[in-house]
Amino acid sequence: MDMILFMTRECTLECRYCYVEHKYGSFMKKETAFKAIDLFIAENDGIAKLSFFGGEPLLCFDLIKDCVGYAVKKAAQKGVDIKFSIATNGTLINSETLDFFEKYNFRVEISLDGAEHSHNLNRPMRNKKNSYKEVVKNLKILKQKAGQLSVVGVISPLTVPFISQNAKHVVDELQISNYIMAADYTADWKEEDLSKVLDQFLILEEWYMEKSRKGDIFYFSVFDAHIFSHVKGGFKPGNFCDVGRKICAVSEDGKIYPCVRFAGKPQRAESYILGDVDTGFNWKKCSEISAENLKPRHQCEGCSLDGRCTTYCPCLNWDMTGSLNEIPGILCAYESMIVPIADRIARTLFEEKNPSFMKKHY
Ligand code: SF4
Ligand code: SF4
Repeated sequence: MDMILFMTRECTLECRYCYVEHKYGSFMKKETAFKAIDLFIAENDGIAKLSFFGGEPLLCFDLIKDCVGYAVKKAAQKGVDIKFSIATNGTLINSETLDFFEKYNFRVEISLDGAEHSHNLNRPMRNKKNSYKEVVKNLKILKQKAGQLSVVGVISPLTVPFISQNAKHVVDELQISNYIMAADYTADWKEEDLSKVLDQFLILEEWYMEKSRKGDIFYFSVFDAHIFSHVKGGFKPGNFCDVGRKICAVSEDGKIYPCVRFAGKPQRAESYILGDVDTGFNWKKCSEISAENLKPRHQCEGCSLDGRCTTYCPCLNWDMTGSLNEIPGILCAYESMIVPIADRIARTLFEEKNPSFMKKHY
C-alpha cells in the first residue's frame, strides 16, 4: 500500500483554490509519522511509494529528513524498495533540500500555474512576496538537481484567457519537459468560460503539433494523458488511484484516509476514515471504500469516450459530488472537449510516423 503523509495544514501561500480546511498551525508529530511509517513498511513488500504532502510539506523539512532516515532503515530490514516523492509549492526550496532530494532520488512535483500574472493571481504568498518569482528562482536550480521533476499548473476561470500562454511559458521558456495542467473543477465555471477554454486548447493543439514536428520530447498532460488512455486500451476504475487497496493518506493527526482531499477536509470525511496510526487499518472499511471506487461510473455507460476520460480520481469525485464514483458535470464537459483534440493530434502524428510522438507513446 503506497502512503501519502499529509505533514501539515500550514502553508506559505494562500491559494484561491486551496482545498485544505482549518489551515494553519497544525503539524504532524514525529511519533505519529514514525507509527505511520511502521504501518507502511508492515504492509509492503517489493517497491512502494512514500510521499510527502500538505499544506506545504517543506515547512516540516526536519521531520521529513527524520522520516526518510527512519523509513530507509526499516525498509532495509524488510527488503522494501521505497520510492520517495514530494508535492511542494516551491517557495521553500534551498540548497539543503536540493541535496536531500538528490541523495534520496525524490520525485518532485512543484506547482506553477504559468506566467507571472496568472500564477500570482491565484497563488499569492502569505508574506505578500511575489510567489512566482520565488518559485521560478527555485525551479531553475531544482531542474539541475532533481532526477524526476514535474510541474503542475491549475486553470481557473480567472486564468482561462492565458491558458496557452501559460503552457508555452512553462514548457518553452522555462524548459520544463513534464507539465501537468488541470482545471480547478471546484470553481464556478460558466458556459462562456468553457468555450474560451476550447479556443485556448485549439491554440495549444497547433503548438503541440509544431513542437512534435520539430522533434521536441515533452509531456503535456492535457493531450498526452488522453493519447495514453487510447494507447493503453482505455482506463478502468482503479487504474489511476486504487484507494483503500493500493494507496492511502495519513493526516497530521494520525488518521488514515483514502487520499489527500479527505485528509484536507476531515470534518466532511469522517465516514471515510480507514483507521489510524495507533490501531492500524480497518480492513473492512478499506474494502468498502475500494469496492465503491472500483464500481463502473454509471454516467459513462454507453458513452463513446468511456475509458478515455481522466475521470478516475475518486478524491476529486468525492470532493465535488460526495461519491467516489460519481463524476462532476464540469469534469465531463472538460473531458468531452479535450479527447477529440487529443485524438486528432494522435491520428495525424501517428500517420506521419512522427519520431517524437512514436517514441513517447509506442
Ligand atoms: S500551496 Fe497547496 S496547500 Fe498551500 S495554499 Fe496553495 S493549494 Fe493550499
Ligand atoms: S465524456 Fe463524460 S460521460 Fe463520457 S466517458 Fe467522459 S466523463 Fe463519462
